[in-house]
Amino acid sequence: MASNTRAVKARPQLQEDLNFNNIVSRQFDKAAATLDLPETLLTQIKVCNNIFYVQFPVRTGNRLLLCRGWRAEHSHHKRPLKGGIRYDENVTDDEVMALAALMTYKCAIVNVPFGGSKGGIRINPREHSEEVLERITRRFTAELAAKNFIGPGINVPAPDMGTGEREMAWIADTYSALAPTGIDNLACVTGKPLSQGGIRGRKEATGRGAQYGLREAFSDPKSLKEMGLSAGLEGKRVAVQGFGNVGYHAATLLHDEDGCVIVGLSEWDGSIVNPKGINPHEVHAWRKEKGTIRGFPGAKTIDDPKAVLEMECDILIPAALENQITISNADRLKCRVVAEAANGPTTPGGEEILLKKDIFIIPDIFLNAGGVVVSYFEWTKNLTHMRFGRLEKRINEIDKNLLITGIEKTIGQPFDDTSRRKLMHGVDEAVLVRSGLEESMIAAYREIREIYLKRKKVTDMRTAAFVCAIEKVAESYKSLGIWP
Ligand code: NAD
Repeated sequence: MASNTRAVKARPQLQEDLNFNNIVSRQFDKAAATLDLPETLLTQIKVCNNIFYVQFPVRTGNRLLLCRGWRAEHSHHKRPLKGGIRYDENVTDDEVMALAALMTYKCAIVNVPFGGSKGGIRINPREHSEEVLERITRRFTAELAAKNFIGPGINVPAPDMGTGEREMAWIADTYSALAPTGIDNLACVTGKPLSQGGIRGRKEATGRGAQYGLREAFSDPKSLKEMGLSAGLEGKRVAVQGFGNVGYHAATLLHDEDGCVIVGLSEWDGSIVNPKGINPHEVHAWRKEKGTIRGFPGAKTIDDPKAVLEMECDILIPAALENQITISNADRLKCRVVAEAANGPTTPGGEEILLKKDIFIIPDIFLNAGGVVVSYFEWTKNLTHMRFGRLEKRINEIDKNLLITGIEKTIGQPFDDTSRRKLMHGVDEAVLVRSGLEESMIAAYREIREIYLKRKKVTDMRTAAFVCAIEKVAESYKSLGIWP
């Protein structure tokens, strides 16, 4: 079924400003125009406060590789600042500033007490060995430390595109070597492996957050009316662009726990589609063996990685890159809902077209905030030096046992073994993390929804999310005494 031709037909590109930083600014301006806040305060909230640039050499075999890296600090209204580090050959200063701004708004929306930051190195991680990537990561960390752009109370990176647990462990280790007496060093970065101070549930947190966000949207009668879909996620056809950390976890969780039918998946080298459904675990195993999702026997392979965006489905989840839904392709989308798991996948021009087509957009600054929520839990765990649930798990189980035994005596009948085990289970870290994440996503969705429904000037969910964020950051400046 797999096609042999890799050439993808060039698509006509219509004119649109694709500068990510300009796009985020326009989204901000649209929301700010509905608010009665001083212009200078709005400018202070909007503009990136600080950006660090560095170029450094790294040896790879007999060659010298010049790496360019950035760390943008968008807002210091709360400290530390928080945001991922991305390895990608298209990273620019504008991109990290835009992503840092989104981090500020995201943290405000899910009530996580951080300012927004983001970093990146302009490399293609697929082109380098593990050894070279380690050298690059350690050197970048040392550069950040030298300029006070990393530290548990200063700026705390996390994974993003092209980075994961491995890179976060290298960052933590390098930082600790540079600050050997720091007792809170592990809190200098989140998304670490469990053995290095990580937290259960961080790896899948962004995908799981998107799942919880979708669940909430699909249980809200007013959202459902706009989506023109029935309640619940069971049986909904889902297409996912990008099968990396976020896309893989979103697809598997929606497939396994909500009964969604995954009808399409795409990667940088092509798409796979099957209207009857694709098992994402099998695709994962296939890619592990073959190095690509192409040729997966349970689906049709299409050369164009963007084909998945235009397929017939209920929910489209862009989980790869920015600027994927634009004025060039938005009118060809056939989904009912765009659930933005990636940062900035829809341009303002693309969004205008989607809204005219009554496609419901669940915006990135809400939907992919699960990662930073669980990063917040990890940071807190590192500062307390104790696993969540450790103190209360046993006492919790003892209390439950007393209660269950009491009930059994009253009703004169014992619970069966399975029910007893389920009821007896004390809260451990994984359960607490999931519960905290679910609560954060549900509460944030409801806040945004309320703004969208109650404010006449707010006509879409993204603007509502920006309004929610701007008001909270403004309030923070007010309580700091900066805004009279
Ligand atoms: P990742 O590197 O793990 O995955 C991205 C995947 O997209 C990769 O598998 C890559 O090969 C694929 N890809 C690249 N170009 C593509 C294309 N043209 N079409 C389809 N697939 C393509 O990165 P990630 O962490 O999953 O991040 C994905 C998006 O989610 C980014 O926008 C990122 O900023 C955002 N995000 C990530 C997190 C997180 O916790 N990792 C949190 C919030 C937001």
